[in-house]
Amino acid sequence: MEVLEGLKTRVYRFGNKTADGNSKMRNLLGGKGANLAEMSAIGIPVPPGFTITTEVCTEYNALGKEAVIELIKDEVEKSIASIEEQMGTIFGDKENPLLISVRSGARVSMPGMMDTVLNLGLNDEAVLGLAKRTKNEKFAWDSYRRFIQMYGGVVLGMKPESKDDIDPFEEIMEHLKHKRSIELDTEFTIQDLQDLVYDFKDAIKKRTGQDFPTDPWDQLWGAIIAVFNSWNGDRAVYYRNMHGYPADWGTAVNVQAMVYGNMGDNSGTGVCFTRDAGTGENVFNGEYLINAQGEDVVAGVRTPQQITKLGSKRWAELAKIEENDRLNDFPSLEELMPSIFDELNRYQDILEKHYRDMQDMEFTIQNGKLWILQTRNGKRTGAAMVKIAMDLLREGMINEKEAILMMEPNKLDELLHPVFEPNALKRAKTIAQGLPASPGAATGKIVFFADDADKYRNTILVRMETSPEDLKGMNIAKGILTARGGMTSHAAVVARGMGKCCISGAGALKINYKNRTLTVDGNVYHDGDWISLNGSTGNVIEGKVETMEPKLGGDFAELMQLTNKYRKMKVRTNADTPRDAKTARSFGAEGIGLTRTEHMFFELDRIKAMREMILADTVKERKQALEELLPMQRADFEGIFEAMDGMSVTIRLLDPPLHEFVPHQLATQKELAEDMHISLQAVKNKVAELEEFNPMLGHRGCRLGNTYPEITAMQTRAIIEAALNLKERGIVCKPEIMIPLVGTVREFEVQDGIIRETAEIIFKERNERIDFLVGTMIEVPRAALMADIIAKKADFFSFGTNDLTQMTFGYSRDDASKFLPIYIEKGILKADPFEVIDEEGVGQLVKIGTERGRSTKPNLKVGLCGEHGGEPASVEFCYNTGIDYVSCSPYRIPIARLVAAQAAIKTTI
Ligand code: PEP
Ligand code: MG
Repeated sequence: MEVLEGLKTRVYRFGNKTADGNSKMRNLLGGKGANLAEMSAIGIPVPPGFTITTEVCTEYNALGKEAVIELIKDEVEKSIASIEEQMGTIFGDKENPLLISVRSGARVSMPGMMDTVLNLGLNDEAVLGLAKRTKNEKFAWDSYRRFIQMYGGVVLGMKPESKDDIDPFEEIMEHLKHKRSIELDTEFTIQDLQDLVYDFKDAIKKRTGQDFPTDPWDQLWGAIIAVFNSWNGDRAVYYRNMHGYPADWGTAVNVQAMVYGNMGDNSGTGVCFTRDAGTGENVFNGEYLINAQGEDVVAGVRTPQQITKLGSKRWAELAKIEENDRLNDFPSLEELMPSIFDELNRYQDILEKHYRDMQDMEFTIQNGKLWILQTRNGKRTGAAMVKIAMDLLREGMINEKEAILMMEPNKLDELLHPVFEPNALKRAKTIAQGLPASPGAATGKIVFFADDADKYRNTILVRMETSPEDLKGMNIAKGILTARGGMTSHAAVVARGMGKCCISGAGALKINYKNRTLTVDGNVYHDGDWISLNGSTGNVIEGKVETMEPKLGGDFAELMQLTNKYRKMKVRTNADTPRDAKTARSFGAEGIGLTRTEHMFFELDRIKAMREMILADTVKERKQALEELLPMQRADFEGIFEAMDGMSVTIRLLDPPLHEFVPHQLATQKELAEDMHISLQAVKNKVAELEEFNPMLGHRGCRLGNTYPEITAMQTRAIIEAALNLKERGIVCKPEIMIPLVGTVREFEVQDGIIRETAEIIFKERNERIDFLVGTMIEVPRAALMADIIAKKADFFSFGTNDLTQMTFGYSRDDASKFLPIYIEKGILKADPFEVIDEEGVGQLVKIGTERGRSTKPNLKVGLCGEHGGEPASVEFCYNTGIDYVSCSPYRIPIARLVAAQAAIKTTI
């Protein structure tokens, strides 16, 4: 092993239709590197280059700069020589310089999260060589200017010093523009660009004390190390944490020959998708710009043109542009460069068939030659994800299992997102039109800065354009609106990835960050004013527009059907009302795994009776109050049983501490005292008496039922009578009565006794019987450990992983938000254990509980009803643990069904 270590390859080359690596080596070469290797090997023209592996990033983190350069120096030098040979250029040459790009590339795409340096290799001499060879002096100096700017920012730390500062290089450029009375970068003369180069270098020297490196090798090593560092940069860390990507994955570094899309009108650059990333429609589409560099397309400074004629027509309709103007000012690539378009079209077809998924490709045309810079499985909306997978399945490109595995579970959420309420929409006034960058509907109050995204409950982030720094705010806002940028702008790509409604390029918006105003057609909107976005049409709407839930069918229904074919674990729902139960059923719930009965007590008439019950001094008084509650509970259960006709319904007995039900404000305490004809002081005394230091660990769960058995008896009566009433009406009820917070078997036995005794009394009264089960939550660690004993008595288990997490970690569910985000940021915890089950610890208790339970009752039914029941990683864990069903909120059911199918499929391949 040690010997092999020493011999391991750290640098993989590609280009000239051959490659050392391939697409299976994602973990080692990163997504980008693996794809470049694969593309090159299948005959796609990619500029030659090499990839430094992700392992080297980890080695760098452990060993530091000098040691890691020593490890790869030889291989890197040889690889540069190989690029020189293929491109016919020489690194650092003053006549014919090779220029390269240095980019990050993690195993998953993290758009804009890490650093890139372009045009590396330029210095005061090489720039002259580039000018001579391209016969384009302006281009050469512009490239040099861009290089110093990027390198300065990424490697030498020339960034704005604070949030309010502008970029130091932008400041110099703005100053020059002002002096020269020009507006655009393209208006700079050669002399301007040369001045900028020297001014930039001066600024770097002033701020960092260093000269800008002139030796291309120094430049290259600086850039490689900067890319490694960017893996641990703030943006990348935030993105990684958001997606749960571990820090030890590291990033690869891709070094590649530069090709130029800004060499004149026979050059260009663009981004294209083999299918529509928004809708999933099978149409080749994308955007490009003539005479531009890659980032110009996504930066949103110029309006990109469409790749295809069809796309161009559609775009023109949306942007309300006349056909002639479109043809003259914004011709498609298909119309402008037909043979290049044909070649690109051929490659997109080859690549989609090769990868058997929708591709997102970047290309550059340099002096009439087409280069493909990268391809990757395209990010897509939830709707597009489902449609593309089902289309690929119908087209025979993938099989059923692959279609299911292709789904990103959380993205299904987007399909369930609200759309505008049609009637509310009729009254809506569209104030501007932008590009439909990411579908869905959003309504919220305007904020202009990402940091303000949580200022109001619902916000719409309005920006000129977004940048990766805005990511956190974009995640919080309900929708994103930008004045600039195309469908591939940062805002659009990131929003689609997040499944967030977004409109980009709404050019009519005049945004004034200083005054925090948005002006459209003379109307001024302020921070805090409501607006609404229709991300599917690009309409920006004045005011608040009510939203409603979408209707599901078509491909989504087919996909859900397909999951049933492969899924073994059942999916139930957590539902407390007939309405929730019906919704859940429409999403495919196979029963109710948890009805929290306490939620029923909070409504107006009930809370009164509930409070009377709690304040009762004697058992007799308590029973009287419970008598009042009985018909209400019974009616609730009838509604739920009816909605779930034929399916199991787990009803949990009262769980929260009684203190939660009593009034805490003087006015309501007075009201209660009057209603009950007792003194205010008596109410106050009772409230004080019920107060607990640790209510979550206090008088709650079965501890209530065991101290006030009348409550258990009343709830049992309500459940059993409801079931009998429905039985009379021919509705099949399968009640499962669940006892919460059991820690010892005796706690269970006493409750079980009351339930069965009460049921027998009712059966006698009604001269009719019904089958029912009595089971327990397993949510106290002791119960998991004692599961073998408890299972002898209980008909079923349901893991309450909310409490189990709380009690296993000793983290209060109510207070953990004070420290959990910091723990995650510092890497003390990988994820919030209340969201994603902690497999190592809490998961171990779930495994132990299941195994021990089944050791004494082999066919014990085991479910899980904590919040984890709808979280993908946790659902997969449940399947692998042999749990019979998960139970989650209605809107998570499609996700749980999908993950259950994916988990089952994964064990077969
Ligand atoms: C649990 O603890 O996981 C659970 C489902 O119960 P609750 O969240 O109501 O405490
Ligand atoms: Mg609980």
